[in-house]
Amino acid sequence: MTASTVERRRIQEEFLELCAIPSLSRREGRIARRLEAILKTMGASIDVDGAGEQVGADTGNLLARIPGTAPGAPALLLSAHMDTVGPAEKITTVVEGDIVRTDRTSVLGGDDKSGIAAIFEAIRVVRERSIPHGEIEVLLTICEESGLVGARHFDASRLRARRGLVLDVDGVGELITRAPAANRLVVSIDGLEAHAGICPERGISAIQVAAEAIAGMRLGRLDAETTANIGVIQGGLGSNIVPNRVVLRGETRSLDDARLREQTEHMRQRFEDAAARHTAMVDGRERRARATIEVEHQYDRLDVPDLADIVRLCTAAAAVLGRRLPTRATGGGSDANVFAARGIEVANLACGMRDIHTVDEWVDVRDLVSTSELLVELIRLNAAPAAG
Ligand SMILES: [Zn+2]
Repeated sequence: MTASTVERRRIQEEFLELCAIPSLSRREGRIARRLEAILKTMGASIDVDGAGEQVGADTGNLLARIPGTAPGAPALLLSAHMDTVGPAEKITTVVEGDIVRTDRTSVLGGDDKSGIAAIFEAIRVVRERSIPHGEIEVLLTICEESGLVGARHFDASRLRARRGLVLDVDGVGELITRAPAANRLVVSIDGLEAHAGICPERGISAIQVAAEAIAGMRLGRLDAETTANIGVIQGGLGSNIVPNRVVLRGETRSLDDARLREQTEHMRQRFEDAAARHTAMVDGRERRARATIEVEHQYDRLDVPDLADIVRLCTAAAAVLGRRLPTRATGGGSDANVFAARGIEVANLACGMRDIHTVDEWVDVRDLVSTSELLVELIRLNAAPAAG
């Protein structure tokens, strides 16, 4: 079997075009319309769901179906997200040989337009070479970067595919089969306001309560599978006021559900214990600090066995190209976590993005080509697994 005829120039041009269209979370409308137009040239029928209205975005998730050409072949899901992190109001791309980056005033948005470009080129090649395939469902989501919000509002029962790939990991030539579950915590500490110089004993410092809680908290990398972070702390009005309120935002993630629960409980307990230690007597009445902790379960973990069909198909597709495709775990969540929780067998394929979420982000066009080549073989093998 010869390698596919992915066209380097075509994929680079499309990638550059997509990167140049700003698409911050909740403002994916412009790129969605462009992607829709491109998908129509590939014979796709398009459906945009109502997630945009639900989450305040200017478009919903875009589901495109490319009809199958191999009777009886199973459908395949290929998914990427349309939004990017900022800064990305205006993106000026710079090409240096095989490397695409920006003028460093914005991110590139290779996260996740490298995934979109690889999917589109693969579908073009499959059609040009008349490679028999099952139905291809291309799902392009909104608001991935704001907490997998688009995927979470997508009705997965609309998918015919029972397996597929999300393309949304940095690096290349790797398949992510394990990713953590995550909880997000929003903590409000209520103390009591007082003049810091005249009567501090009538106050309770919410900042002090927060500091004590955090000082005794297990944070950072807790074990190979578990992390925790306090990422935001806001509060206080002035240096002469005992602060009555602090709001903190944090998270914990783990590949192990029991560890996730344990760490979440630990963080909750630290805030409650610290609050319980702080009281003040005001006019003969005891006042107490209070910690209010909201825990949001953001997403479930991803855990695809190496023997799962999607992993074996991807590995076989790589073998056709004379490559290996190692599987690994990641510490980040993606739309794959959401789809997996809805019963789709889905892994996350690295697709060439590098130094993501920074203005130094870059992509090597050769990685886009190699990702796309792998997809071509995957689409072919998915229709005829025995031939692999
Ligand atoms: Zn991404």
